[in-house]
Amino acid sequence: MRTVLLGAPGSGKGTQGVVLSKKYDIPQISTGDLLRAAVSAGSDLGKQAKSAMDAGALVSDEIVIGLIRERISHDDAKNGYILDGFPRNIPQAEALDAMLTELNQPLQGVVLLDVAFEELLQRLTGRRTCKDCGAIYNIHLSPSKIEDHCDACNGPLFQRADDNEETIGNRLNVYQEQTAPLVSYYQAQNKLHSIAGVGNVNDITAQVSAVFDSI
Ligand code: AMP
Repeated sequence: MRTVLLGAPGSGKGTQGVVLSKKYDIPQISTGDLLRAAVSAGSDLGKQAKSAMDAGALVSDEIVIGLIRERISHDDAKNGYILDGFPRNIPQAEALDAMLTELNQPLQGVVLLDVAFEELLQRLTGRRTCKDCGAIYNIHLSPSKIEDHCDACNGPLFQRADDNEETIGNRLNVYQEQTAPLVSYYQAQNKLHSIAGVGNVNDITAQVSAVFDSI
């Protein structure tokens, strides 16, 4: 199942991606995670990406398209994948379509997680992530039972470097200007399924699953 989770920063793509990846046994492929790993490893690619990420701007299309091309060629992606945070603009979506047409494996569905701007702000400022297993919490909305520790694995929770107010503002602007046009792009291909990304996490998973099961 070749799918994309589309939505603003904080819309729940990462949270849903982790759960759906387990449920459907296909990898969640997050360009944000791949880039953060490159930054931590101090690779050349990480060094090139870091300043754009710190500013909440987009990393170059060339870098992220290269990352995706390489990642979807792995064995674990042969039955499909959930792309999370890619594509982020029209040129990336066009490059993805071209890449998948060449492989004769077009995208099957795109799920938009729709969340109001004010809620996104609260989610992003309160977001905490487990260093060990990647589970996501929110100090305002869904705190862990023990402060700063993961409920699932007891790993330490951290706040992403780009989840500060200034960078968050930039990231939301970038979403409006560059990523939101993908809604019409995928609507025109009859691939867009829009879901309200608010309320109970399990209910949202059930709605996304219903879409996945139908494609
Ligand atoms: P995310 O974890 O998806 O919120 O991504 C964190 C940051 O990584 C973004 O603010 C961008 O700087 C960069 N990034 C992630 N995915 C992309 C992409 N598809 N294109 C360009 N930059 C990206």
